[in-house]
Amino acid sequence: MFCDEALDTVEAIAAGELMADGRVAAHLASCPNCAQALESARKLERSLRQRPVPNPPAQFTSRTLARVRRARWRSDQFLDVGFNVAIGLIVVSVMAGVWMLLHRTGIVSVSGDAVNVFGSGFVALARRVAPALPLYAGAAALLVSALALWWWAERDTAL
Ligand SMILES: [Zn+2]
Repeated sequence: MFCDEALDTVEAIAAGELMADGRVAAHLASCPNCAQALESARKLERSLRQRPVPNPPAQFTSRTLARVRRARWRSDQFLDVGFNVAIGLIVVSVMAGVWMLLHRTGIVSVSGDAVNVFGSGFVALARRVAPALPLYAGAAALLVSALALWWWAERDTAL
């Protein structure tokens, strides 16, 4: 049995993690060097155990939970702002699209002299509107999906 082998175990023995078996115990009893090492390891262990453990500050739990709640609230606010910006962009693009469609198909000018339209008949208006119907349907679908998304989010935040 060499000293280095015994010295490798003195910390564990001092900490009580390891029982000195026959060979090690015999060496520790016969070798003053290793016996002293074990003794100093025990002293160190004792002083470590007596070291005061700092108490957590008062209201540690409630303060921590409050901070967690605040952080969660902030991220919720961030999501809320992002969602509202997205909805705003959708609404603006829908409105811009409708406005452009109205101008391109000339509905605006038609409605400008509505009397003339009703006078000359509905057929002319229908002829002008008909080619744009798929575009109107697309715009309406976009609007409906935006409103559905809005409804879904409002219902979610209400909970
Ligand atoms: Zn030794």
